[in-house]
Parts: sequence; C-alpha cells; structure tokens
Amino acid sequence: MQSLNIIQIDKKIYEKNNPLSFHKYIYNMKRFIYSIAQFFFILLIINGCSSGQDESLSLNSTASETPVDNDSQTEYNNDSDIKVIFNSNLDDSLPSEWITEYNVILDTLDKRIPVYANNYESLDIYAWNSTADKPFSAQIGNASGACICGNDQGRYMVLEIPNDEFTYSLMHRYSVIAHEFFHAYQMGISANFYSGDFRVKWISEGSAAVFESLYIQEHYAYNYFKFDQDSVDNEATTSPSIFESYDSSETNYSSSVFMVLALVKELIESDIKEEVAFKMILTDFLEQNPNSSNWKNIFEEVFPFSAETFYQSLASYEANIAGVLPDENLKLKDIFNN
Ligand SMILES: [Zn+2]
Repeated sequence: MQSLNIIQIDKKIYEKNNPLSFHKYIYNMKRFIYSIAQFFFILLIINGCSSGQDESLSLNSTASETPVDNDSQTEYNNDSDIKVIFNSNLDDSLPSEWITEYNVILDTLDKRIPVYANNYESLDIYAWNSTADKPFSAQIGNASGACICGNDQGRYMVLEIPNDEFTYSLMHRYSVIAHEFFHAYQMGISANFYSGDFRVKWISEGSAAVFESLYIQEHYAYNYFKFDQDSVDNEATTSPSIFESYDSSETNYSSSVFMVLALVKELIESDIKEEVAFKMILTDFLEQNPNSSNWKNIFEEVFPFSAETFYQSLASYEANIAGVLPDENLKLKDIFNN
C-alpha cells in the first residue's frame, strides 16, 4: 500500500480525509479513546485508497465536501498540561550547522509557543537535504517539500530543504522550521484546525508565515517580511476574500501575510497594543476553535470589528508589504508571554 496523504498544510493544499463525519466525531470524544478512534480512522482511509494513488489526486478528490457543526468550539477545552513529543529524524545529508541550528530553533520555540497534547500526543519530524534520495521513504513514502502531512502511519512534519538554500545561505532553510512548527502549535490549540474543519488560508497560513518572519527578524536580524514576503497581490486589497481559499495562488504567502499585518494595523487603530494584536490573531482567535462555517462570528467576538469591515478597510491600503511592517524590535516573548 502506498502512503496516502490525509492532510497537508503548505504546498498550496490543506485537505482532509473522506471519512469526515467519523473524523470529526473522534476529536469530540474524550482522549482515552483517541488512539482507538484514530486506528479506525486510518482503516477507513486505507479502505478508500487505491494502490499507487496519485498524491495530488487523492487530495483534490476530497476538496469539496465540508460538513461542519457550529457548536463544536463550545465543547472544546485546551486543558492538557502534557507537551506534544516531537521525534526528530534528521538525515545525514543535512549540514551539521543546520542540525545545530535546528536544535536551537526547536528549543526556543518550545519556550515561546509550547505545544500541548490537546489534540495529538506526538509528531514525527523528517528532515533531509534535497540531494538525498527520499531517505525516509519507508516511513513517509514520496512525501516531499515542507508540510504537515499524513499517511497510514499518522501525521508528521516534512522538512525537505532544497540544497540551494544551503549553497546560497537562504534564510528559508531556517524560517521553514518556525513555519511548520507554528502549524504544530495551531494543531495543539484548535481541534478544528487539527481536523481540517478550519481552513481559511489567509489566517492559517498568514499566521504561520508571519510567525516565521517574526522569528527570523528577532533571531537573525533579517527582515524576512520585506525581502521574502513582498509579492503582495492587488487582490489582497481589492478582493481579499479570495484568500480564504487554498485555491487562491500567491507567492510565499505574501498576500496572506499582508492581510494579517494589515489586521494588526487595524487593531492598533482600535487602541490595541501591537504585541497584543499579534497575540489576538496568532493565538486567541484560533483558541476559540473556529470552523469553516462559524469563523466570521468568532472573528467578530475576538476582534472589535467584523471580517467584512476588515475586508472593506483593506481598500484603503496599498498592496505593498512595506506599508504594514511591524516594529522590528518586536519580540515573540512579548507576544506570547512565554
Ligand atoms: Zn504553512
């Protein structure tokens, strides 16, 4: 049986599995049956998988159905005091400098945004240099690039670092770690994010991409916003709702980042401190466990204006990252209070 992706964050697609109602059900049950439920869930996936199924085809085939219930967030608590265990599998093809930095980054992130086992207990991480020939194919099949993906063995993080990023010392070789780790954090604070029932790209990916830039800015004195997320599309100001969908195209999530940073600016206009504004977007909103049908209601509960009002306000912005850059001295410690 080829591995079959059941969920994939990044690589433009973040999809869910076919046995959706069962999947939703298991995340609303108590944790002691979690592993049993996951076992059956995986069986269902295996049963629905034809041998050698194309990865992207299997993802796209599940794209349209999304039954949701509106009250699941009221049943959910983030009360675990047990941390998620990250199991790092680092291939020998990676430079030793990168491995050293990887360990520093994970230690730092564990302090700033610790991930608790509310929705999952462990996450395997597989990292390698793109020059290596799929060194973890026995565990993750043909998974590649950078993503939170899943197969018949569970969910995992993939960090295939393009060799050029080492050759040219590109900051992305480090920022991608913070980006994917932030998705692990999101999965820890929201059951609906974990299950795929919350799928608003500009918030989900914009938050992860903003976080990675904040991390890089603080630890490497490099403005990743300005240099690497500057390809903002005009649609971010003229028709921002298109970036709710993972079908919308953009470069390095620049438009989603722009929208998150513009939301920070709008919150500052409402007399909210910058670090508090970031916390509201990156943590508080998702902690309310929005889903795809009720997220605008939760948006209006968390923020002092509606999503529609925010979208309308974007018309007064230029589609340019330079106009929404945050304070360069902003520290993650001040945002997350950790
Ligand atoms: Zn992502």
